[in-house]
Amino acid sequence: MKTIIEQIDIRQMNMDIIRRAGEILRAGGLTAFPTETVYGLGADALNELAAKKIYAAKGRPSDNPLIVHIADMEALGRIAEDVPEQAKAAADAFWPGPLTMIFKKTEAVPLGTTGGLDTVAVRMPDHEAARELIRAGGGYIAAPSANTSGRPSPTTAQHVEEDLAGRIDMIVDGGAVEIGVESTILDMTVEPPMILRPGAVTREMLEEVIGEVAVDKTLLDSVSHTAPKAPGMKYRHYAPKAELTVVEGETDQVMCVIDRLAREKIAGGFKVGIIAAEDTAGRYGTGEVKCIGARGDEAAIASHLYGILRDFDSIGTDYIYSEAFGREGIGTAVMNRLLKAAGQRVIDAGDFTGRREKNV
Ligand code: AMP
Ligand code: MG
Repeated sequence: MKTIIEQIDIRQMNMDIIRRAGEILRAGGLTAFPTETVYGLGADALNELAAKKIYAAKGRPSDNPLIVHIADMEALGRIAEDVPEQAKAAADAFWPGPLTMIFKKTEAVPLGTTGGLDTVAVRMPDHEAARELIRAGGGYIAAPSANTSGRPSPTTAQHVEEDLAGRIDMIVDGGAVEIGVESTILDMTVEPPMILRPGAVTREMLEEVIGEVAVDKTLLDSVSHTAPKAPGMKYRHYAPKAELTVVEGETDQVMCVIDRLAREKIAGGFKVGIIAAEDTAGRYGTGEVKCIGARGDEAAIASHLYGILRDFDSIGTDYIYSEAFGREGIGTAVMNRLLKAAGQRVIDAGDFTGRREKNV
């Protein structure tokens, strides 16, 4: 299959391209498109065969449900059975935006879209071209991140092309996305509503609007033996090909540990990458160092994370050491993705330094 790639200027909105993308979606095809979070791989959510093509193109396990994207509040009633008042309030406050809510599904939504569940995840993206494309495609577009399953999510159209060229009908290129990590997922079928995946809409922001919000406890433990409630969160995810380790603790100790580990691997003939904040990036004397943004600027760090992991893949990095970053605001989502990408491999720099010294 030849993948059509079309650029759109999101300020001018090329309706011709949007219309063509919409035709592909209505005919049961696959079109990748930008949203404010990451690029999505779209298919008609109400057409089971179309939705199934997403799983095949991504290599996604079939029990990992898709998020249905809508463009207008009026669209919600056809796919969601009960929309509680709290959900209406959250939609009022955060839609369009990086919040996905889970509802009991109606008959209109095929089980092939929801991974066999009787619930449906719904989001309205804060991206005008995305909403136009959703309308052009029939109003209900299933769109998981447009990457090969397991790899870091795509934040540019080039990332999508790397993973899916030849496997999908079209890529709409709207440039780099704004946020860079996937939406917050909030389960509205339980009391109190529960966050199943952290994103740009934080627990604090939600609680201000709808009162108490719980957090899936598997997100809080660094090592957990129970399965997370969002089926997709149980899989190895967001991961680069290299073995990634996160080093946390006091800055000088973190740098010291990363420096030591990097030198050991380089001496062994391996290629090593380092992910560092702006204030420390220039101070490493070894490895391929990438600056992820200023410490404290969690939004910048979020927008650079996946691109950096992919860059390290493209240069054949064997080991990546990353500093840990702040958990303020979207920082919770950043650390959730970074630790998942690391397969929860975390070193406490204080313990590590002490242990190594004792061994000498
Ligand atoms: P992605 O679109 O690739 O970012 O992944 C979508 C995420 O939403 C996965 O982690 C899914 O498990 C989760 N999800 C989608 N639908 C549901 C649902 N009905 N219940 C719980 N989690 C869901
Ligand atoms: Mg994904």
